[in-house]
Amino acid sequence: MNSTNTLRDLVTIVHEGGHAVQSILDKPLELVDFKNIPSEVAELASMSMELISMEHWHHF
Ligand SMILES: [Zn+2]
Repeated sequence: MNSTNTLRDLVTIVHEGGHAVQSILDKPLELVDFKNIPSEVAELASMSMELISMEHWHHF
């Protein structure tokens, strides 16, 4: 991540954290095809993290 000392830094780290959670939850799946998810599914977790945290962004 490139830090620019803006709100975008926070949004990016929250977004990428969503991808990390998705990856951790995918790991125990036995079928490899279930781990190769399309981008619209991959972005669901990360953008949901943005949505969930959005009400706290004003602290930044
Ligand atoms: Zn993403």
